[in-house]
Amino acid sequence: MQSSVPNTKYESLRRFCLESLGLDLFGVANIREIRKTFLLSHDVADRYDYAISVGKEVLLSVLDDIKEAPTLLYFHHYRQLNSYLDRAALQIATEISSLGYLALPVAASQVIDWKEQKAHLPHKKIAELAGLGWLGKNNLLVNPILGSRLRLVTVLTNLPLKTDSPLPYSCGDCRRCQTVCPAKAIKDLPSAFDHLACFEKLKEFRNKGLVGQYICGICVKACPGQKELS
Ligand code: SF4
Ligand code: SF4
Repeated sequence: MQSSVPNTKYESLRRFCLESLGLDLFGVANIREIRKTFLLSHDVADRYDYAISVGKEVLLSVLDDIKEAPTLLYFHHYRQLNSYLDRAALQIATEISSLGYLALPVAASQVIDWKEQKAHLPHKKIAELAGLGWLGKNNLLVNPILGSRLRLVTVLTNLPLKTDSPLPYSCGDCRRCQTVCPAKAIKDLPSAFDHLACFEKLKEFRNKGLVGQYICGICVKACPGQKELS
């Protein structure tokens, strides 16, 4: 959903992202209300009123083999997607810089506060504000087409852009992710999600040497959006 303010820069950036860079999702959020929460110094964060949120699909074929634990194929795909998104964010920022505006690409997957498990900024919250999806029961962004099969990155900018509006919460009666979660972390409401139980399970997967990062993929596979594995 988009606001009615006309903005040719929005349209040309959207085309650049989706057609030239091969990204799957594009949206813009106004971040004035949330930038104080970023783990950036306030004088840096305050330079930026807008965040461009872009996403790339996690392929169904890579999730196929995930049953009760993450796989090495998924781990590799996860890192490839983050690297793809980081490169895309750099290209978006370079494009905006060439127009004479500031643009700051923020790493797709870089935890800088391990105790609180926080990155420089909440990519998921920004994507929600940018209309790319809603926060699902599985504590992931759910897009109407891709479900939770997506990775995100953010570019902050002071280029004035038309902004998008958040989508309504639409998990409804679905409980597919809840049924398969090995940590029983997923509840009926997103606000009741058990972060600690989920993180303990991710630590278990990592400590067993299954993958080199805190990832799982089980509830991502359970939320495929409009595509299904037959
Ligand atoms: S699997 Fe269903 S309940 Fe879980 S996040 Fe996706 S849409 Fe929501
Ligand atoms: S990432 Fe794994 S452990 Fe965490 S909520 Fe999803 S399925 Fe459960």
